[in-house]
Amino acid sequence: MRNVIIIGSGCAGNTAAIYAARANLKPLVVAGHEPGGQLSITTLVENFPGFPEGIDGPDLVDNMKKQAETFGAEYVHGTVTEADLSKRPFRLNIDGEWQESLTLIIASGASARWLGLPSEQKLIGHGVSSCATCDGAFYRDRKVMVIGGGDTAMEEANFLTRFASEVTLVHRRDQFRASKVMLDRARANPKIKFLHNTVVDEVHDASKNEVTGVRLRQADPEKVWDQEVHGFFVAIGHIPNTKPFTGQIDLDRDGYIVSHGGAQTNIKGVFHAGDVQDRAYRQAITAAGAGCMAAIEAERFLEAEGH
Ligand code: NAP
Repeated sequence: MRNVIIIGSGCAGNTAAIYAARANLKPLVVAGHEPGGQLSITTLVENFPGFPEGIDGPDLVDNMKKQAETFGAEYVHGTVTEADLSKRPFRLNIDGEWQESLTLIIASGASARWLGLPSEQKLIGHGVSSCATCDGAFYRDRKVMVIGGGDTAMEEANFLTRFASEVTLVHRRDQFRASKVMLDRARANPKIKFLHNTVVDEVHDASKNEVTGVRLRQADPEKVWDQEVHGFFVAIGHIPNTKPFTGQIDLDRDGYIVSHGGAQTNIKGVFHAGDVQDRAYRQAITAAGAGCMAAIEAERFLEAEGH
């Protein structure tokens, strides 16, 4: 029986682990299917306070993990496939093995949705990104492309014009999901060029380990061409990792956890941290802060129960 199981090992989960371990709760951290979370697929992180020269994303999360382990946090590889939150202790199926815990911190994150092209996958962190806030500054005076037709794509395209010489926004239809105000703002920005009814066939050049361009295609009339770009930003949505909790934890229509104040979910003793609840900020530092909040709430909850 555990005091606290933390689901997820990104910034939120690792920070929760540091706090819970220092409170002597001996947390168990389930690393999840993307150990280290979104930072593990980025390169240089320049906006996490305390690192004036920046720090590589994988190093940052690995340092957090080591810090948590120093205070007694235990990490297991694996993924939560099933959860029984109907009564306490809560029960989690971790790759076939059931574990029990008095409290839970769900920090399982939200995975970026990708196009799924092999060339795109090979270049993630090397010119292919799902976060303009994180990586935009690397493309000063360079050409970049944003994929998507929702608010995120508009926001990222606008943000990228602060750095890039030219931003091409590529959307597969001619109708946009983005709100009118965001779409109008992007359309009014002289640095943003729109390509409608256009899909990406390939991102060049995986053999060089950098983005040099893309192959684009329009269906009617049929047209295929290559365009030079140096940064390729995919903004086609995120998928919150809440599948095992569906029907138990309050989720919004897109599957994000609905907060019941602070780090609380609708179930007493189950707390949320990071991108699994946050669709607005999605930053390493906000996730870390949320992890801290969740651990403090779990600690207070256990203390109030006399544990
Ligand atoms: P979204 O609204 O679901 O839009 C995703 C976009 O990606 C759609 O245009 C979709 O095209 C496209 N797409 C999905 N899969 C694709 C694929 N395989 N290939 C090519 N294109 C693909 O997602 P979002 O923009 O991330 O926004 C999510 C939520 O957050 C929304 O509710 C949004 O309003 C909110 N948000 C708000 C703000 C703000 O208010 N400041 C900022 C960001 C996000 P189709 O349209 O053809 O399906």
